[in-house]
Amino acid sequence: WDMFFLAFLERLFRPTFRKDDFVLGKKLGEGAFGVVYKAALANKSSAKQGDLVLKKATEYGAVEIWMNERVRRACANSCADFVYGFLESSSKGKGGEYWLIWRFEGETTLSDLMLSKEFPYNVERMILGEDQDLPKGLERENRIIQTIMRQLLFALDGLHSTGIVHRDIKPQNIIFSEGARTFKIIDLGAAADLRVGINYIPKEFLLDPRYTAPEQYIMSTQTPSAPSAPVATALSPVLWQLNLPDRFDIYSAGLIFMQMAFPALRTDSNLIQFNRQLKRCEYDLIEWRKTVEPRASPELRKGFELLDLDGGIGWELLTSMVRYKARRRTSAKAALANPYFDREGLLRLSFMQ
Ligand code: ADP
Ligand code: MG
Repeated sequence: WDMFFLAFLERLFRPTFRKDDFVLGKKLGEGAFGVVYKAALANKSSAKQGDLVLKKATEYGAVEIWMNERVRRACANSCADFVYGFLESSSKGKGGEYWLIWRFEGETTLSDLMLSKEFPYNVERMILGEDQDLPKGLERENRIIQTIMRQLLFALDGLHSTGIVHRDIKPQNIIFSEGARTFKIIDLGAAADLRVGINYIPKEFLLDPRYTAPEQYIMSTQTPSAPSAPVATALSPVLWQLNLPDRFDIYSAGLIFMQMAFPALRTDSNLIQFNRQLKRCEYDLIEWRKTVEPRASPELRKGFELLDLDGGIGWELLTSMVRYKARRRTSAKAALANPYFDREGLLRLSFMQ
């Protein structure tokens, strides 16, 4: 009852918005299921709200609103700050559009940052603001990548502990929050909440083939179709244990780790080629390494060197994330306890978390 009452009170006292309250700015993105704009409140007196982001979504917007509401209550720091979501039924189209509003977290996604020649040093500047007394060269790059991975896994751990699998973890869906000075996850459009059975049946067409784990489906095909909500609540912790759906995101996060260590994998075509190579090695990274290392370019060799620092703890972590069998992959929580994160990382960040 307390939970319901609190949710009710929160809903009651939070501002509600309508279509006319917003002024649209530039387009930030456009997918098959919606368009995203920078936006602001039309009413000047509410301008202190600052910049906002507005997504006009198709029918999948309903699930995305549900996920964002849940994240805000259970693990707010994991994702971009959600403000409000509603069905805008006056617009054209059968059932209208869902409008979702977030706080504008910042200009850059991890994808933008990784495409710069300066990566990962461009991230170091954003996180620290000023020079730190860090080691130079490879060791320094490793510390920055380690910090990004820690923040990503921290956000994922929040989602997974809440019972949410994101299913679309990729650099384009990781935003740098200028306010929090940390990376946050965005785009819960393909997410599944297993504890209550929302969006339980995977929609494969929502998944991005560049980053998907080999199992494709988060639940085994033997799992019965979505049970009604009360049953799902009682049942799903067991299903979670059996199927480890969270490991789907871990695989994607492992691929991001790879892209950070190996600059060559940052282009789409090379990532797709890598996926093909890995499949040929039956998703065995150690096998893949054996096939490419003997004739590796200096750049590729540098990536292995980075992962081999400190007795190879980076490589160890990576291979525990990118594995064929979901149940053999590490969880986000276990990954955070990996010795790779024992070192200081970027000093100030350890305080912020
Ligand atoms: P899509 O379904 O189009 O992928 P996303 O939710 O990923 O929608 O948003 C598209 C883009 O809009 C993101 O890649 C990012 O650049 C930007 N964006 C989304 N949410 C925010 C936010 N809260 N703050 C700043 N930029 C955002
Ligand atoms: Mg996206």
